[in-house]
Amino acid sequence: MRFIKKNNEPSKLTRFREQFQKGENEGYSQFSNEQGKTETIEALLEEQGHLCAYCMRYVYTEKAPITQIEHWEAQSNDPLKQLDYSNMLGVCSGRISWTDETQTTTTTTFCEDVRGNTPLMINPLNINLIEEIKFTEQGVIYSDNEVINKDLDETLQLNIGIIKQNRAQIWLSVKKEISKHNTPQEIEKQLYYWQSKHPKDGKQKYKEYSQVAIYLLKKELIRANKNVNKFHK
Ligand SMILES: [Zn+2]
Repeated sequence: MRFIKKNNEPSKLTRFREQFQKGENEGYSQFSNEQGKTETIEALLEEQGHLCAYCMRYVYTEKAPITQIEHWEAQSNDPLKQLDYSNMLGVCSGRISWTDETQTTTTTTFCEDVRGNTPLMINPLNINLIEEIKFTEQGVIYSDNEVINKDLDETLQLNIGIIKQNRAQIWLSVKKEISKHNTPQEIEKQLYYWQSKHPKDGKQKYKEYSQVAIYLLKKELIRANKNVNKFHK
């Protein structure tokens, strides 16, 4: 999970909500691709750099079913909340298959698919809460805040095998890079790379699982700056 800065909502969504308020449609259940759902998904993915708001996998608009609109406040019965752009996130299908070294294929569900309507404290739109998320060298995502930790580990199942392995790979590649380039300036440059979007498949995308690198590089930057200060004293 990484911080998502919201942009303006698509005008089709604004219009659909206004029509709902006038009683001209029945709300979210009628919000079709033609009515603005496609534009809304595209807008969400653009601001999220095409990563799933929860697990940071790439999500695709080309294969429509893979991207879903998630309502962060899921249990709300307020129909206006269901059409509130600030309550919407783009998420993945919540299904993943992988083959291990014994050629056994495992399919599992996680992310939004297992969450259902369980309330969450963690929210990618809240930068202070995102700062509470940590990672380990083994790719484990966790938090010292017990409620957030339960959201990540149990409600969203973000520590399932393959996802954890993918995050561990990012950790390893960043560590390798730091071992070669470890001045504060060099680390800042790497941090900027992981914080930025890059062209991929004709879109501007963040790197998958980039928050792992951002977390590690921020820690390394503090360490590198301390070393510089020590050297100058
Ligand atoms: Zn996901």
